[in-house]
Amino acid sequence: MSFTTTSFQLDGRRALITGSCKGIGLELARGLGSAGASLVINDRNLQKAQAVASQLRDEGLSVEIAVFDVTDRTQLREAINGFEAQTGAIDILINNAGIQRRAPLEDFSAEDWHELMRVNLDGVFHVSQAVAQHMIARGRGKIINICSVQSELARPTIAPYAASKGAVKMLTKGMCAEWARHGIQANGLAPGYFATEMNRALVDDQGFSEWLCKRTPAGRWGRVEELCGAAVFLASSASDFVNGQTLFVDGGLTSVV
Ligand code: NAP
Repeated sequence: MSFTTTSFQLDGRRALITGSCKGIGLELARGLGSAGASLVINDRNLQKAQAVASQLRDEGLSVEIAVFDVTDRTQLREAINGFEAQTGAIDILINNAGIQRRAPLEDFSAEDWHELMRVNLDGVFHVSQAVAQHMIARGRGKIINICSVQSELARPTIAPYAASKGAVKMLTKGMCAEWARHGIQANGLAPGYFATEMNRALVDDQGFSEWLCKRTPAGRWGRVEELCGAAVFLASSASDFVNGQTLFVDGGLTSVV
């Protein structure tokens, strides 16, 4: 079949995006929605999800809600299996929910380490496994794992975060190794530095901002909407032979020293 730009369209596809009531997840939802996908937004709080769903519907998007905590295996399996049984297939999964904790490695608390790993790594495992069981039965699906420049590069005070994101990059390759033969493409999307709530401490730090703009070939912070093109590509049939890769959307940061 010859290529046309309709390969990028997501009409008739349903996309679940974890942690999608703010920041990058919310913008990725908008991006996939504008490419034609119907959306399943996720948050731990029903009222917050309802408010965001109503906002997105006002923007003309088709939106449903799945309330779960990505660290609660029982709750998320009930939500995903219930959704599949009662509403329909989840064709695209974006594992976006994530947290950051900062402290010198020698002082980093065990509680913070475990919490970070539970959300950033275990969450990707639990949600992907629950969704992939349905995708495998259908013989197709798209999984996008939100990685980071810290999947490749360390920085002081965020060693555990870098360890979690490095692991997500490798888990993505593992998904490719085991699920490609079932028609699933699993790829990583690795943002550079974007001004979201997670990065508030960095945005407010003028010294960091100046350093970042010098360090990034593009010379600036990323804008969250700039992640959407890569997400739509990885969610669409335009990327059907792309598997196990991590696509960096970082203004060139990981390409230079
Ligand atoms: P954010 O604004 O803090 O949003 C994170 C989202 O994840 C929030 O909606 C949050 O919900 C949700 N979340 C946290 N723990 C959860 C849990 N246990 N179950 C369900 N949802 C949970 O952060 P962001 O900057 O948009 O980051 C989104 C993703 O991009 C993360 O994986 C992050 O590591 C990655 N990333 C971000 C950047 C960047 O520059 N911002 C760069 C590289 C990678 P609550 O509001 O309830 O906490």
